Amino acid sequence: MATNVEIATRRVASTNPATGELLRELDCASDAEVHAAVARAHSAQPAWAALSVEERIRILRKFQRLLHENKTEVATLITQEAGKPYVEALLTEVLVVLDAARFLIDNAFAFLREQPVPHGSVAMKAKKGRILREPYGVIAIISPWNYPLSIPAVDALAAVITGNAVVLKPSEFTSLIALKLASLLHTAGVPKEVFQVVVGDGATGAALLNSEVDKLIFTGSVPTGKRIAQAAAARLLPVVLELGGKDPMLVLDDADLDVASSAAVWGAFVNAGQACLSVERCYVHQSLYEKFLDACVAKAQKLRVGNGMDPQTDIGPMIHGRQLRIVETQVEEARTQGARVLAGGARLPELGPHFYAPTVLADVTHKMHIMREETFGPVLPVAPFSGDAEAIRLANDSEFGLAASIWTRDKKRGEAIARQIDAGTVMVNDVISCFGISEAPHGGFKASGIGRSHGQFGLEEMVRVKYLDTDRLPRMKKLWWYGYGEKLTHQMEAFVDLQFAHRIGDRLRATLKSAGVLKSRKL
Ligand code: NAD
Repeated sequence: MATNVEIATRRVASTNPATGELLRELDCASDAEVHAAVARAHSAQPAWAALSVEERIRILRKFQRLLHENKTEVATLITQEAGKPYVEALLTEVLVVLDAARFLIDNAFAFLREQPVPHGSVAMKAKKGRILREPYGVIAIISPWNYPLSIPAVDALAAVITGNAVVLKPSEFTSLIALKLASLLHTAGVPKEVFQVVVGDGATGAALLNSEVDKLIFTGSVPTGKRIAQAAAARLLPVVLELGGKDPMLVLDDADLDVASSAAVWGAFVNAGQACLSVERCYVHQSLYEKFLDACVAKAQKLRVGNGMDPQTDIGPMIHGRQLRIVETQVEEARTQGARVLAGGARLPELGPHFYAPTVLADVTHKMHIMREETFGPVLPVAPFSGDAEAIRLANDSEFGLAASIWTRDKKRGEAIARQIDAGTVMVNDVISCFGISEAPHGGFKASGIGRSHGQFGLEEMVRVKYLDTDRLPRMKKLWWYGYGEKLTHQMEAFVDLQFAHRIGDRLRATLKSAGVLKSRKL
Protein backbone atom coordinates (compact mmCIF):
# COMPACT_ATOMS: atom_id res chain seq x y z
CA MET A 1 0.00 0.00 0.00
CA ALA A 2 1.38 3.41 -0.96
CA THR A 3 2.15 5.59 2.02
CA ASN A 4 2.66 8.82 0.13
CA VAL A 5 -0.39 10.71 -0.99
CA GLU A 6 -0.12 11.00 -4.73
CA ILE A 7 -1.28 14.26 -6.16
CA ALA A 8 -2.61 13.71 -9.65
CA THR A 9 -1.33 16.25 -12.17
CA ARG A 10 -4.18 18.27 -13.61
CA ARG A 11 -4.33 18.17 -17.40
CA VAL A 12 -5.93 20.31 -20.06
CA ALA A 13 -7.17 18.96 -23.36
CA SER A 14 -6.84 20.84 -26.59
CA THR A 15 -9.61 19.66 -28.90
CA ASN A 16 -10.96 20.66 -32.28
CA PRO A 17 -14.42 22.10 -31.49
CA ALA A 18 -15.68 21.29 -34.99
CA THR A 19 -14.95 17.58 -34.77
CA GLY A 20 -14.33 16.84 -31.10
CA GLU A 21 -10.92 15.39 -32.11
CA LEU A 22 -8.30 15.53 -29.35
CA LEU A 23 -5.35 17.55 -30.62
CA ARG A 24 -3.15 17.22 -27.55
CA GLU A 25 -3.31 16.84 -23.79
CA LEU A 26 -0.97 18.90 -21.67
CA ASP A 27 -0.09 18.96 -17.97
CA CYS A 28 -1.15 22.05 -16.07
CA ALA A 29 1.77 23.94 -14.59
CA SER A 30 1.83 23.33 -10.84
CA ASP A 31 1.95 26.24 -8.38
CA ALA A 32 5.68 25.59 -7.92
CA GLU A 33 6.25 25.63 -11.68
CA VAL A 34 4.35 28.91 -12.01
CA HIS A 35 6.41 30.50 -9.24
CA ALA A 36 9.63 29.18 -10.80
CA ALA A 37 8.66 30.65 -14.19
CA VAL A 38 8.04 34.04 -12.59
CA ALA A 39 11.38 33.85 -10.75
CA ARG A 40 13.19 33.06 -14.03
CA ALA A 41 11.41 36.00 -15.65
CA HIS A 42 12.58 38.30 -12.85
CA SER A 43 16.19 37.16 -13.29
CA ALA A 44 16.15 37.69 -17.05
CA GLN A 45 14.20 40.95 -17.23
CA PRO A 46 16.93 43.47 -16.26
CA ALA A 47 19.21 42.36 -19.11
CA TRP A 48 16.27 42.54 -21.53
CA ALA A 49 15.38 46.03 -20.33
CA ALA A 50 19.03 47.06 -20.63
CA LEU A 51 19.02 46.36 -24.38
CA SER A 52 18.53 49.45 -26.51
CA VAL A 53 15.00 50.04 -27.78
CA GLU A 54 16.40 49.72 -31.30
CA GLU A 55 17.60 46.20 -30.48
CA ARG A 56 14.21 45.16 -29.12
CA ILE A 57 12.56 46.68 -32.20
CA ARG A 58 14.93 44.65 -34.41
CA ILE A 59 13.77 41.47 -32.65
CA LEU A 60 10.13 42.51 -33.01
CA ARG A 61 10.64 43.09 -36.72
CA LYS A 62 12.04 39.58 -37.00
CA PHE A 63 9.01 38.21 -35.15
CA GLN A 64 6.75 40.09 -37.56
CA ARG A 65 8.56 38.57 -40.53
CA LEU A 66 8.37 35.07 -39.05
CA LEU A 67 4.66 35.40 -38.29
CA HIS A 68 4.03 36.57 -41.82
CA GLU A 69 6.02 33.66 -43.27
CA ASN A 70 4.10 31.23 -41.04
CA LYS A 71 0.67 32.84 -41.49
CA THR A 72 -0.96 29.79 -43.09
CA GLU A 73 0.30 27.39 -40.42
CA VAL A 74 -0.69 29.74 -37.59
CA ALA A 75 -4.16 30.50 -38.99
CA THR A 76 -4.75 26.78 -39.58
CA LEU A 77 -3.83 25.99 -35.98
CA ILE A 78 -6.23 28.70 -34.77
CA THR A 79 -9.05 27.22 -36.85
CA GLN A 80 -8.29 23.73 -35.57
CA GLU A 81 -8.13 24.74 -31.92
CA ALA A 82 -10.73 27.53 -31.74
CA GLY A 83 -13.05 26.63 -34.64
CA LYS A 84 -13.35 29.96 -36.46
CA PRO A 85 -13.22 30.05 -40.28
CA TYR A 86 -9.67 30.12 -41.62
CA VAL A 87 -10.21 33.52 -43.27
CA GLU A 88 -11.26 34.98 -39.89
CA ALA A 89 -8.18 33.45 -38.24
CA LEU A 90 -6.07 35.14 -40.89
CA LEU A 91 -7.72 38.56 -40.65
CA THR A 92 -8.83 38.94 -37.02
CA GLU A 93 -5.82 37.21 -35.51
CA VAL A 94 -2.71 37.02 -37.71
CA LEU A 95 -3.25 40.37 -39.46
CA VAL A 96 -4.15 42.10 -36.18
CA VAL A 97 -0.88 40.91 -34.63
CA LEU A 98 1.20 41.82 -37.68
CA ASP A 99 -0.26 45.31 -37.56
CA ALA A 100 0.19 45.62 -33.79
CA ALA A 101 3.89 44.82 -34.39
CA ARG A 102 3.94 47.51 -37.10
CA PHE A 103 2.51 50.03 -34.65
CA LEU A 104 5.11 49.18 -32.01
CA ILE A 105 7.99 49.19 -34.49
CA ASP A 106 6.90 52.67 -35.61
CA ASN A 107 6.14 54.13 -32.18
CA ALA A 108 8.07 52.37 -29.40
CA PHE A 109 11.18 54.50 -29.71
CA ALA A 110 9.32 57.82 -29.44
CA PHE A 111 7.11 56.43 -26.68
CA LEU A 112 10.06 55.38 -24.51
CA ARG A 113 12.09 58.56 -25.10
CA GLU A 114 12.46 60.84 -22.09
CA GLN A 115 9.72 63.41 -22.20
CA PRO A 116 10.59 66.92 -21.03
CA VAL A 117 8.22 68.52 -18.53
CA PRO A 118 8.34 72.30 -18.88
CA HIS A 119 7.45 74.04 -15.62
CA GLY A 120 4.85 76.79 -15.69
CA SER A 121 5.23 77.83 -12.06
CA VAL A 122 7.64 80.74 -11.55
CA ALA A 123 8.92 79.10 -8.36
CA MET A 124 9.96 75.97 -10.28
CA LYS A 125 11.64 77.55 -13.29
CA ALA A 126 15.11 76.59 -12.10
CA LYS A 127 14.34 72.91 -12.31
CA LYS A 128 14.53 70.48 -15.20
CA GLY A 129 11.78 67.85 -15.23
CA ARG A 130 11.42 64.72 -17.32
CA ILE A 131 9.04 61.78 -17.55
CA LEU A 132 10.71 58.37 -17.72
CA ARG A 133 8.68 55.35 -18.77
CA GLU A 134 10.17 52.28 -17.12
CA PRO A 135 9.09 48.65 -17.40
CA TYR A 136 7.15 47.14 -14.51
CA GLY A 137 9.35 44.06 -14.44
CA VAL A 138 7.31 40.89 -14.91
CA ILE A 139 3.87 41.20 -16.47
CA ALA A 140 1.40 38.34 -16.18
CA ILE A 141 -1.10 37.89 -18.98
CA ILE A 142 -4.17 35.69 -18.53
CA SER A 143 -6.13 35.32 -21.74
CA PRO A 144 -9.36 33.77 -23.11
CA TRP A 145 -9.96 31.33 -25.97
CA ASN A 146 -12.01 33.45 -28.37
CA TYR A 147 -9.08 35.36 -29.91
CA PRO A 148 -6.35 33.00 -28.76
CA LEU A 149 -3.54 34.64 -30.74
CA SER A 150 -4.43 38.30 -31.11
CA ILE A 151 -5.43 39.00 -27.50
CA PRO A 152 -2.34 37.64 -25.72
CA ALA A 153 0.03 38.61 -28.55
CA VAL A 154 -0.99 42.29 -28.73
CA ASP A 155 -0.49 42.62 -24.97
CA ALA A 156 2.71 40.56 -24.93
CA LEU A 157 4.34 42.55 -27.74
CA ALA A 158 3.57 45.84 -25.97
CA ALA A 159 4.98 44.38 -22.74
CA VAL A 160 8.25 43.09 -24.17
CA ILE A 161 8.98 46.09 -26.39
CA THR A 162 8.83 48.29 -23.28
CA GLY A 163 11.37 46.05 -21.52
CA ASN A 164 9.17 43.75 -19.43
CA ALA A 165 9.31 39.99 -19.16
CA VAL A 166 6.00 38.18 -19.67
CA VAL A 167 4.46 35.04 -18.21
CA LEU A 168 1.34 34.08 -20.18
CA LYS A 169 -1.39 31.77 -18.89
CA PRO A 170 -3.52 31.10 -21.97
CA SER A 171 -7.03 29.68 -21.92
CA GLU A 172 -7.10 25.98 -21.15
CA PHE A 173 -8.92 25.52 -24.50
CA THR A 174 -6.26 27.11 -26.68
CA SER A 175 -2.85 26.21 -25.23
CA LEU A 176 -1.32 25.17 -28.57
CA ILE A 177 -1.68 28.60 -30.13
CA ALA A 178 0.02 30.20 -27.13
CA LEU A 179 2.89 27.72 -27.43
CA LYS A 180 3.17 28.58 -31.13
CA LEU A 181 3.36 32.30 -30.23
CA ALA A 182 6.16 31.49 -27.77
CA SER A 183 8.07 29.52 -30.36
CA LEU A 184 7.88 32.39 -32.90
CA LEU A 185 9.00 34.95 -30.31
CA HIS A 186 11.90 32.76 -29.20
CA THR A 187 13.03 32.12 -32.77
CA ALA A 188 12.94 35.87 -33.36
CA GLY A 189 15.34 36.42 -30.46
CA VAL A 190 13.19 37.06 -27.39
CA PRO A 191 14.98 35.09 -24.63
CA LYS A 192 13.06 32.04 -23.38
CA GLU A 193 12.86 33.46 -19.85
CA VAL A 194 11.54 36.80 -21.12
CA PHE A 195 8.45 35.24 -22.68
CA GLN A 196 7.13 32.12 -21.00
CA VAL A 197 3.85 30.23 -21.24
CA VAL A 198 2.41 28.40 -18.25
CA VAL A 199 -0.27 26.05 -19.53
CA GLY A 200 -3.25 25.35 -17.34
CA ASP A 201 -6.75 26.05 -16.11
CA GLY A 202 -8.23 28.58 -13.70
CA ALA A 203 -6.15 27.26 -10.79
CA THR A 204 -2.99 27.86 -12.80
CA GLY A 205 -4.22 31.39 -13.47
CA ALA A 206 -4.84 31.85 -9.74
CA ALA A 207 -1.28 30.66 -9.01
CA LEU A 208 0.08 33.23 -11.46
CA LEU A 209 -2.04 35.95 -9.88
CA ASN A 210 -0.62 35.00 -6.47
CA SER A 211 2.99 34.92 -7.66
CA GLU A 212 5.52 37.76 -7.56
CA VAL A 213 4.37 39.39 -10.79
CA ASP A 214 4.40 43.19 -10.99
CA LYS A 215 1.23 43.68 -13.04
CA LEU A 216 -1.56 41.54 -14.46
CA ILE A 217 -3.32 41.99 -17.78
CA PHE A 218 -6.49 39.90 -17.67
CA THR A 219 -8.96 39.33 -20.49
CA GLY A 220 -12.00 37.20 -19.78
CA SER A 221 -15.43 37.12 -18.21
CA VAL A 222 -16.84 39.54 -15.63
CA PRO A 223 -17.13 36.90 -12.83
CA THR A 224 -13.47 35.86 -13.20
CA GLY A 225 -12.46 39.53 -13.55
CA LYS A 226 -14.16 40.34 -10.25
CA ARG A 227 -12.39 37.46 -8.48
CA ILE A 228 -9.09 38.69 -9.89
CA ALA A 229 -9.78 42.29 -8.86
CA GLN A 230 -10.46 41.19 -5.28
CA ALA A 231 -7.26 39.16 -5.04
CA ALA A 232 -5.25 41.95 -6.69
CA ALA A 233 -6.68 44.57 -4.32
CA ALA A 234 -5.44 42.60 -1.30
CA ARG A 235 -1.84 43.15 -2.42
CA LEU A 236 -2.36 46.32 -4.51
CA LEU A 237 -1.30 44.53 -7.67
CA PRO A 238 -1.99 46.80 -10.65
CA VAL A 239 -4.37 45.15 -13.11
CA VAL A 240 -5.92 45.75 -16.47
CA LEU A 241 -9.28 44.01 -16.83
CA GLU A 242 -10.71 43.53 -20.32
CA LEU A 243 -14.07 41.93 -19.63
CA GLY A 244 -17.36 41.07 -21.28
CA GLY A 245 -19.79 43.18 -23.23
CA LYS A 246 -23.40 43.45 -24.38
CA ASP A 247 -22.74 45.76 -27.30
CA PRO A 248 -25.78 47.56 -28.71
CA MET A 249 -26.29 48.48 -32.36
CA LEU A 250 -28.62 51.42 -33.03
CA VAL A 251 -30.17 51.60 -36.49
CA LEU A 252 -31.63 55.10 -36.93
CA ASP A 253 -34.54 55.94 -39.22
CA ASP A 254 -32.22 57.28 -41.95
CA ALA A 255 -29.85 54.27 -41.99
CA ASP A 256 -28.97 52.41 -45.18
CA LEU A 257 -31.02 49.29 -44.56
CA ASP A 258 -28.98 46.97 -46.76
CA VAL A 259 -25.62 48.03 -45.26
CA ALA A 260 -26.92 48.04 -41.68
CA SER A 261 -28.55 44.60 -41.95
CA SER A 262 -25.33 43.11 -43.41
CA ALA A 263 -23.38 44.71 -40.55
CA ALA A 264 -25.80 43.29 -37.98
CA VAL A 265 -25.53 39.80 -39.43
CA TRP A 266 -21.73 39.88 -39.61
CA GLY A 267 -21.39 41.67 -36.26
CA ALA A 268 -23.60 39.13 -34.47
CA PHE A 269 -22.30 35.95 -36.13
CA VAL A 270 -18.58 36.51 -36.72
CA ASN A 271 -16.59 33.92 -34.74
CA ALA A 272 -19.99 32.29 -34.04
CA GLY A 273 -20.88 35.34 -31.96
CA GLN A 274 -18.01 34.67 -29.59
CA ALA A 275 -16.38 38.09 -29.82
CA CYS A 276 -16.25 40.54 -26.93
CA LEU A 277 -17.27 43.23 -29.46
CA SER A 278 -20.11 41.19 -31.04
CA VAL A 279 -23.41 42.88 -31.77
CA GLU A 280 -25.25 41.44 -28.78
CA ARG A 281 -28.45 43.49 -29.09
CA CYS A 282 -29.87 45.49 -31.95
CA TYR A 283 -32.36 48.37 -31.76
CA VAL A 284 -34.03 49.49 -34.97
CA HIS A 285 -36.24 52.51 -35.60
CA GLN A 286 -39.84 51.33 -35.85
CA SER A 287 -40.16 52.71 -39.41
CA LEU A 288 -37.50 50.21 -40.61
CA TYR A 289 -38.11 47.42 -38.11
CA GLU A 290 -39.95 44.76 -40.15
CA LYS A 291 -37.95 45.42 -43.34
CA PHE A 292 -34.72 45.23 -41.35
CA LEU A 293 -35.77 41.91 -39.82
CA ASP A 294 -36.67 40.50 -43.25
CA ALA A 295 -33.24 41.51 -44.60
CA CYS A 296 -31.41 39.98 -41.61
CA VAL A 297 -33.36 36.74 -41.83
CA ALA A 298 -32.72 36.42 -45.58
CA LYS A 299 -28.99 37.06 -45.04
CA ALA A 300 -28.72 34.75 -42.00
CA GLN A 301 -30.38 31.89 -43.86
CA LYS A 302 -27.78 32.10 -46.62
CA LEU A 303 -24.87 31.64 -44.21
CA ARG A 304 -23.05 28.32 -44.35
CA VAL A 305 -22.29 26.72 -41.00
CA GLY A 306 -19.53 24.12 -40.84
CA ASN A 307 -15.90 23.28 -40.28
CA GLY A 308 -13.77 26.43 -40.42
CA MET A 309 -11.22 24.71 -42.65
CA ASP A 310 -13.79 24.58 -45.48
CA PRO A 311 -13.31 27.85 -47.41
CA GLN A 312 -17.10 27.98 -47.99
CA THR A 313 -17.79 28.17 -44.24
CA ASP A 314 -19.12 31.43 -42.81
CA ILE A 315 -19.74 30.27 -39.25
CA GLY A 316 -17.80 27.63 -37.35
CA PRO A 317 -18.66 25.75 -34.17
CA MET A 318 -18.95 27.19 -30.69
CA ILE A 319 -15.98 26.49 -28.46
CA HIS A 320 -17.58 23.97 -26.11
CA GLY A 321 -20.84 22.53 -24.82
CA ARG A 322 -21.04 24.85 -21.80
CA GLN A 323 -21.01 27.95 -24.00
CA LEU A 324 -23.59 26.37 -26.31
CA ARG A 325 -25.93 25.63 -23.39
CA ILE A 326 -25.81 29.29 -22.27
CA VAL A 327 -26.97 30.30 -25.75
CA GLU A 328 -29.66 27.63 -25.86
CA THR A 329 -31.01 28.60 -22.45
CA GLN A 330 -31.20 32.32 -23.29
CA VAL A 331 -32.91 31.69 -26.63
CA GLU A 332 -35.43 29.29 -25.07
CA GLU A 333 -36.22 31.75 -22.28
CA ALA A 334 -36.75 34.55 -24.81
CA ARG A 335 -38.99 32.32 -26.90
CA THR A 336 -41.20 31.40 -23.94
CA GLN A 337 -41.40 35.08 -22.95
CA GLY A 338 -42.75 36.11 -26.34
CA ALA A 339 -39.78 36.65 -28.66
CA ARG A 340 -40.30 35.56 -32.28
CA VAL A 341 -37.58 33.17 -33.56
CA LEU A 342 -37.32 34.19 -37.21
CA ALA A 343 -34.22 32.15 -38.09
CA GLY A 344 -32.23 29.40 -36.40
CA GLY A 345 -32.95 28.86 -32.74
CA ALA A 346 -31.59 25.30 -32.59
CA ARG A 347 -28.44 23.19 -32.53
CA LEU A 348 -27.16 21.59 -35.72
CA PRO A 349 -26.15 18.14 -34.39
CA GLU A 350 -25.71 16.74 -37.90
CA LEU A 351 -22.61 18.98 -38.26
CA GLY A 352 -20.94 18.09 -34.97
CA PRO A 353 -21.32 18.50 -31.22
CA HIS A 354 -20.97 22.28 -30.95
CA PHE A 355 -22.83 23.85 -33.85
CA TYR A 356 -25.70 26.29 -33.36
CA ALA A 357 -27.70 27.83 -36.20
CA PRO A 358 -27.41 31.59 -36.75
CA THR A 359 -30.46 32.91 -34.93
CA VAL A 360 -32.53 36.05 -35.45
CA LEU A 361 -34.97 36.99 -32.68
CA ALA A 362 -37.62 39.72 -32.91
CA ASP A 363 -39.69 41.48 -30.23
CA VAL A 364 -37.18 40.96 -27.45
CA THR A 365 -37.37 43.13 -24.32
CA HIS A 366 -35.06 44.18 -21.52
CA LYS A 367 -36.86 41.78 -19.18
CA MET A 368 -35.20 38.90 -21.02
CA HIS A 369 -31.69 37.66 -20.15
CA ILE A 370 -30.87 37.70 -23.87
CA MET A 371 -30.89 41.52 -23.73
CA ARG A 372 -29.14 41.87 -20.37
CA GLU A 373 -26.51 39.13 -20.07
CA GLU A 374 -23.65 38.36 -22.42
CA THR A 375 -24.82 35.65 -24.84
CA PHE A 376 -21.52 35.00 -26.63
CA GLY A 377 -23.12 32.98 -29.39
CA PRO A 378 -24.60 33.36 -32.89
CA VAL A 379 -27.75 35.24 -31.91
CA LEU A 380 -29.07 38.56 -33.18
CA PRO A 381 -31.88 39.83 -30.94
CA VAL A 382 -33.73 42.82 -32.41
CA ALA A 383 -36.12 45.31 -30.77
CA PRO A 384 -37.84 48.44 -32.14
CA PHE A 385 -37.54 52.00 -30.80
CA SER A 386 -39.45 55.16 -31.63
CA GLY A 387 -36.93 58.02 -31.24
CA ASP A 388 -33.25 58.82 -30.66
CA ALA A 389 -33.71 59.50 -26.93
CA GLU A 390 -35.27 56.07 -26.43
CA ALA A 391 -32.48 54.40 -28.43
CA ILE A 392 -29.83 56.07 -26.25
CA ARG A 393 -31.67 55.08 -23.07
CA LEU A 394 -31.92 51.45 -24.19
CA ALA A 395 -28.25 51.34 -25.24
CA ASN A 396 -27.15 52.67 -21.84
CA ASP A 397 -29.50 50.42 -19.87
CA SER A 398 -26.82 47.77 -19.29
CA GLU A 399 -24.22 46.87 -16.69
CA PHE A 400 -21.71 46.61 -19.58
CA GLY A 401 -20.07 49.36 -21.63
CA LEU A 402 -17.55 47.84 -24.01
CA ALA A 403 -18.60 49.15 -27.44
CA ALA A 404 -21.61 50.26 -29.46
CA SER A 405 -22.46 51.19 -33.04
CA ILE A 406 -24.77 53.76 -34.60
CA TRP A 407 -26.10 53.49 -38.14
CA THR A 408 -27.22 56.63 -39.95
CA ARG A 409 -26.65 58.54 -43.20
CA ASP A 410 -26.16 61.71 -41.10
CA LYS A 411 -22.63 61.53 -39.65
CA LYS A 412 -23.17 64.56 -37.38
CA ARG A 413 -26.28 63.03 -35.87
CA GLY A 414 -24.45 59.72 -35.42
CA GLU A 415 -21.53 61.39 -33.66
CA ALA A 416 -23.83 63.43 -31.42
CA ILE A 417 -25.53 60.22 -30.29
CA ALA A 418 -22.17 58.43 -29.95
CA ARG A 419 -21.12 61.04 -27.38
CA GLN A 420 -24.11 60.08 -25.23
CA ILE A 421 -23.38 56.33 -25.18
CA ASP A 422 -21.59 54.88 -22.13
CA ALA A 423 -19.02 52.70 -23.86
CA GLY A 424 -15.27 52.54 -24.36
CA THR A 425 -15.69 52.59 -28.16
CA VAL A 426 -18.56 53.84 -30.28
CA MET A 427 -18.42 53.34 -34.02
CA VAL A 428 -20.58 55.25 -36.46
CA ASN A 429 -21.48 53.02 -39.43
CA ASP A 430 -19.15 50.14 -38.57
CA VAL A 431 -18.82 47.31 -36.08
CA ILE A 432 -15.92 45.44 -34.45
CA SER A 433 -13.20 46.71 -36.83
CA CYS A 434 -11.91 49.03 -34.06
CA PHE A 435 -10.13 45.93 -32.70
CA GLY A 436 -8.04 45.88 -35.87
CA ILE A 437 -6.98 49.52 -35.58
CA SER A 438 -3.69 49.25 -33.74
CA GLU A 439 -3.75 52.95 -32.83
CA ALA A 440 -7.22 52.78 -31.25
CA PRO A 441 -7.49 52.10 -27.50
CA HIS A 442 -9.52 49.02 -26.59
CA GLY A 443 -11.33 48.73 -23.27
CA GLY A 444 -14.61 49.20 -21.51
CA PHE A 445 -16.70 51.37 -19.24
CA LYS A 446 -18.68 49.99 -16.28
CA ALA A 447 -18.47 46.19 -15.81
CA SER A 448 -16.65 45.81 -19.12
CA GLY A 449 -13.38 46.56 -17.45
CA ILE A 450 -10.58 48.77 -16.23
CA GLY A 451 -7.66 50.06 -18.28
CA ARG A 452 -6.88 49.84 -21.97
CA SER A 453 -5.00 47.67 -24.42
CA HIS A 454 -3.80 48.58 -27.95
CA GLY A 455 -2.16 51.78 -29.13
CA GLN A 456 -0.61 54.48 -27.00
CA PHE A 457 -2.94 53.77 -24.06
CA GLY A 458 -2.05 50.07 -24.17
CA LEU A 459 1.65 50.98 -24.08
CA GLU A 460 1.06 53.27 -21.09
CA GLU A 461 -0.29 50.23 -19.17
CA MET A 462 3.08 48.49 -19.59
CA VAL A 463 5.22 51.16 -17.96
CA ARG A 464 5.68 52.82 -14.61
CA VAL A 465 5.87 56.56 -14.98
CA LYS A 466 8.76 58.12 -13.12
CA TYR A 467 9.20 61.87 -12.79
CA LEU A 468 12.88 62.82 -12.77
CA ASP A 469 13.70 66.29 -11.45
CA THR A 470 17.13 67.94 -11.52
CA ASP A 471 17.69 71.33 -9.92
CA ARG A 472 19.73 73.71 -12.06
CA LEU A 473 20.88 75.75 -9.02
CA PRO A 474 22.34 73.13 -6.72
CA ARG A 475 24.06 75.71 -4.49
CA MET A 476 20.91 77.65 -3.71
CA LYS A 477 18.66 76.85 -0.75
CA LYS A 478 14.99 76.86 -1.55
CA LEU A 479 12.97 79.92 -0.57
CA TRP A 480 10.33 77.84 1.16
CA TRP A 481 12.67 75.92 3.47
CA TYR A 482 12.94 76.78 7.16
CA GLY A 483 13.54 80.30 8.30
CA TYR A 484 9.81 80.87 8.81
CA GLY A 485 8.69 84.08 10.48
CA GLU A 486 6.61 87.15 9.90
CA LYS A 487 8.95 88.55 7.29
CA LEU A 488 9.01 85.41 5.15
CA THR A 489 5.25 85.07 5.48
CA HIS A 490 4.75 88.61 4.07
CA GLN A 491 7.21 87.96 1.32
CA MET A 492 5.50 84.71 0.40
CA GLU A 493 2.10 86.38 0.39
CA ALA A 494 3.57 88.89 -2.01
CA PHE A 495 5.01 86.06 -4.08
CA VAL A 496 1.59 84.40 -4.37
CA ASP A 497 0.00 87.77 -5.30
CA LEU A 498 2.72 88.41 -7.86
CA GLN A 499 1.55 85.36 -9.76
CA PHE A 500 -2.16 85.22 -9.13
CA ALA A 501 -3.54 88.63 -7.99
CA HIS A 502 -6.43 89.59 -10.21
CA ARG A 503 -5.50 93.30 -10.65
CA ILE A 504 -2.31 94.31 -12.44
CA GLY A 505 -1.59 97.02 -9.81
CA ASP A 506 -1.65 94.38 -7.04
CA ARG A 507 0.76 92.27 -9.03
CA LEU A 508 3.19 95.18 -9.47
CA ARG A 509 3.06 96.03 -5.75
CA ALA A 510 3.66 92.35 -4.98
CA THR A 511 6.67 92.29 -7.32
CA LEU A 512 8.33 95.08 -5.36
CA LYS A 513 7.54 93.49 -2.01
CA SER A 514 8.84 90.10 -2.99
CA ALA A 515 12.02 91.54 -4.48
CA GLY A 516 13.52 91.34 -1.01
CA VAL A 517 12.99 87.62 -0.82
CA LEU A 518 16.10 86.57 -2.69
CA LYS A 519 18.26 89.12 -0.92
CA SER A 520 17.07 88.08 2.54
CA ARG A 521 17.80 84.37 2.03
CA LYS A 522 21.32 83.15 2.60
CA LEU A 523 22.64 81.31 -0.42
P1 NAD B 1 -12.96 33.15 -18.38
O1 NAD B 1 -13.13 34.29 -17.46
O2 NAD B 1 -13.66 31.88 -18.09
O3 NAD B 1 -11.40 32.76 -18.50
C1 NAD B 1 -10.42 33.67 -18.92
C2 NAD B 1 -9.07 33.20 -18.43
O4 NAD B 1 -9.03 33.27 -17.01
C3 NAD B 1 -8.72 31.77 -18.80
O5 NAD B 1 -7.37 31.69 -19.13
C4 NAD B 1 -9.00 31.02 -17.50
O6 NAD B 1 -8.27 29.81 -17.37
C5 NAD B 1 -8.56 32.04 -16.49
N1 NAD B 1 -9.14 31.88 -15.15
C6 NAD B 1 -10.31 31.30 -14.78
N2 NAD B 1 -10.48 31.38 -13.44
C7 NAD B 1 -9.40 32.03 -12.94
C8 NAD B 1 -8.99 32.44 -11.64
N3 NAD B 1 -9.75 32.19 -10.57
N4 NAD B 1 -7.83 33.11 -11.49
C9 NAD B 1 -7.05 33.40 -12.58
N5 NAD B 1 -7.38 33.02 -13.84
C10 NAD B 1 -8.54 32.35 -14.03
O7 NAD B 1 -13.33 33.69 -19.84
P2 NAD B 1 -13.38 32.87 -21.21
O8 NAD B 1 -14.58 32.00 -21.25
O9 NAD B 1 -12.05 32.26 -21.48
O10 NAD B 1 -13.55 34.07 -22.25
C11 NAD B 1 -14.77 34.62 -22.61
C12 NAD B 1 -15.00 35.93 -21.89
O11 NAD B 1 -13.92 36.83 -22.18
C13 NAD B 1 -16.24 36.65 -22.37
O12 NAD B 1 -16.91 37.19 -21.28
C14 NAD B 1 -15.70 37.75 -23.27
O13 NAD B 1 -16.54 38.88 -23.40
C15 NAD B 1 -14.44 38.10 -22.56
N6 NAD B 1 -13.51 38.76 -23.48
C16 NAD B 1 -13.29 40.09 -23.30
C17 NAD B 1 -12.46 40.76 -24.19
C18 NAD B 1 -12.17 42.22 -24.05
O14 NAD B 1 -11.22 42.68 -24.68
N7 NAD B 1 -12.91 42.99 -23.28
C19 NAD B 1 -11.88 40.07 -25.24
C20 NAD B 1 -12.14 38.71 -25.38
C21 NAD B 1 -12.97 38.06 -24.49
